[in-house]
Amino acid sequence: MSELVSTRIRNTAGKLGLPHLTETISEYIRRADEGKLGYLDFLDLVLSEELAVRDDRRFRQGLRLSRLPHHKTLDEYDFSFQPDLDPRKVKDLATLSFVEAKANAALLGPPGVGKTHIAVALAVAACRAGYSIYFTSLDDMVRHLKAAEAAGRLTSKLGTYLRPSVLVVDEVGYQPLERAEANLVFQVISKRYEKGSIILTSNKTFSEWGQVFGDEVLATAILDRLLHHCEVICINGPSYRLKNRLKAIERETEVA
Ligand code: ADP
Ligand code: MG
Repeated sequence: MSELVSTRIRNTAGKLGLPHLTETISEYIRRADEGKLGYLDFLDLVLSEELAVRDDRRFRQGLRLSRLPHHKTLDEYDFSFQPDLDPRKVKDLATLSFVEAKANAALLGPPGVGKTHIAVALAVAACRAGYSIYFTSLDDMVRHLKAAEAAGRLTSKLGTYLRPSVLVVDEVGYQPLERAEANLVFQVISKRYEKGSIILTSNKTFSEWGQVFGDEVLATAILDRLLHHCEVICINGPSYRLKNRLKAIERETEVA
C-alpha cells in the first residue's frame, strides 16, 4: 500500500475516532494479504475488531467508575458450598433481564455466604453488557447524602445514586438508621422505582427492616417500591469466610 494512502487512512480513522485502526492498519493489511481476504471479509474484520476494542475500553472504563470492591464473577462462586441455593435462580439473574426491565434483585442471608460476591458478579456482567454501574454500602450512601444535604448539594449528590443503570447497595441492615437518614434512602429508592435497577444485599429479613430504618411506616414505603419488581434470593448456609478457619481449628483439635 502506498505511504500516501496509509497516511490518509490513519488521518481519516483518527478523525472518525477510531484510534485502534490508526495503530493497526498495517497489521490488518498483512493479515488480509496472508489470508487472501476479499473486500467484504476485510471490512468485516476491521469493523468488528474496532467494535471489540471499543467495547472492551468502555467495559474497563465502566468498571473503574463503578467503585466495585472487586471484580469476581459467578464462575468463581462455588455453588456446591451452598447446597440450599438453587444455581438456576442466580444464573437467571445473570441473564440481566431484570436490569432490562428496570427491576431489582435482593440477596439476603447471614455474613460470609457470598451475597456481595454474587451482587458484584451480576454488576460486572451488567457492565460488560453496556450498563452503567455504581456500588456503595448503604452506610456510605447515607453518609454522603447527609453531608451533601448539610452543604446544600443534595440534588446533585442524589444524581450519583440515580444516574447509573444499576445501583448496588451493599450491607443494608448492618447499622440501624435514624429517621432522617432513612428518609434519604427512601428518596433514592422511590426515585429509582421503575427507572433503574437496584441490587441489594442484607443480613436482615424484610420483616426486620422496620428496626433497620427506625420507622415501620417508612420501612414499609421503602419495601413497597423495592419489592414491587424484585427477584429475591435467600442464601441460608455456612460462611465461606469461616470455611478454611473452621477446617484448621478442627485439625488442631483432632491433633490435640
Ligand atoms: P457476604 O457478602 O455474604 O458477607 P461475601 O460475598 O463478602 O459474603 O463473601 C466472603 C468471601 O468469601 C468473599 O471473598 C467471597 O468471594 C467468598 N465466597 C463466599 N461464598 C463463596 C462461594 N460459594 N464460592 C466461592 N467463594 C465464596
Ligand atoms: Mg457482604
